[in-house]
Amino acid sequence: NYHHHVISPELHESISQNAKYYSDQLSDIYHSSYSSNSETEISSEKERIFESLNQPAFKSDGKSPKQIMKDNTKFVRSLLAKPIEDPKLLKLVQKEEFKELENATFVSLVRNSELNGIIKTIKQIEETFNDKFHYPYTFLNDQPFTENFKSSILKEIPGSQVHFAEISSSEWDKPSFIDEKLETRGIKELEEVGVGYAGKLSYHNMCRYYSKGFYNHPILKEFKYYWRIEPSTNYFCQIDYDVFKFMKDNNKVYGFVLNLYDSPHSVKSLWNETLRFLKNNTQHINENGAHKWITENLQNPSNFEIAKGYSTCHFWSNFEIGDMDFYRSEAYSSWVEHLDKTGGFYYERWGDAPVHSIGLGLFADKSQIHWFRDIGYEHTPYLNCPNSNKCNTALCPKGKFSRFNGMDSQNCLATWAKYEMTDEQLNNY
Ligand code: GDP
Ligand code: MN
Repeated sequence: NYHHHVISPELHESISQNAKYYSDQLSDIYHSSYSSNSETEISSEKERIFESLNQPAFKSDGKSPKQIMKDNTKFVRSLLAKPIEDPKLLKLVQKEEFKELENATFVSLVRNSELNGIIKTIKQIEETFNDKFHYPYTFLNDQPFTENFKSSILKEIPGSQVHFAEISSSEWDKPSFIDEKLETRGIKELEEVGVGYAGKLSYHNMCRYYSKGFYNHPILKEFKYYWRIEPSTNYFCQIDYDVFKFMKDNNKVYGFVLNLYDSPHSVKSLWNETLRFLKNNTQHINENGAHKWITENLQNPSNFEIAKGYSTCHFWSNFEIGDMDFYRSEAYSSWVEHLDKTGGFYYERWGDAPVHSIGLGLFADKSQIHWFRDIGYEHTPYLNCPNSNKCNTALCPKGKFSRFNGMDSQNCLATWAKYEMTDEQLNNY
């Protein structure tokens, strides 16, 4: 009765082999849940998934991580080499059939000093997508936007509604329960291992705000879908269908373009704290979640080790198209409240990308997460440059992950594509 749909025989095998793997780090969690009734059959599927999340997803078959990375890089390159167009087998509303806006907005948290960068990006968004649809924009800032910022932006977006919104300090600032000593010690440790932005308070605030704040901002509360944009990012391809309607009609909660590894030291205890939450909240676990992707341990075992059971693979959140009702759900919001109370946004440097990604991997059905292969996108140093005649491939290196050499080891798209996508989804382009 152990071999249910969720756990494949191969995963079951790896679970049995590795059953004691985490007993050091997680003895409290592991033993309090299971030692008292170790003789009893654990009947609930969700309890069983919780147990599997305590383990590495796979047992090594002897292949070295280097070899796995090499094979997976080849696999990703072959996926990206395929000529593509619009998504297939999914509902699309082309610009000619477009009638009315979905409940959606672009969102950008941005500083006054980034005016030129955000204008460059807005021009590309308008040219490739939004001059056909005229979705609204919402700009957020912890400081008041200057008159110059606002008027310069408005000139670029003549056809859309535009909101400029300030973030209240109670939502943005470091909470008062953060212990200064622990914070200073944490920053020092992160700086010693070279974690970027470790000592930059505003960066911690930003990550926390994108993790647990933005979707409840009074302006954004009025919207369901968002498309996050960042200053100085590039968009290379024409998107001729309404992506927000695409999300709705195909029952998607999240769309991403790039999938990569995080600095493992920045999230040292994020997974541990997540397991601590899940232990008492197994009801929130989605039985069709992207669990293998989260606990994948063979392609980058060093990251997996440092992050204590989390692969550190995540959707790169400087681009994201999502349904904010997912974040507003009981599952995501109670989990992220738990995370916040641990202080990890300040004692470590948890990013909003791993937080969104783990939340989605645990609480969403993986079939509701869409890889937008057709959106050509760049945030230095990574990019997606599709092999499509809708893309201006004079501007980007076709099928590559970066303009720089030696970056493929940061790509973990292969683990998403291999373990979480169906064949049908792989044929969506
Ligand atoms: P990186 O991509 O991880 O290097 O981080 P960024 O510096 O690009 O920051 C992520 C996003 O948050 C960007 O859109 C920034 O404009 C924005 N951001 C970061 N820090 C602040 C801040 O202190 N205030 C405001 N208003 N925006 C910020
Ligand atoms: Mn950025």
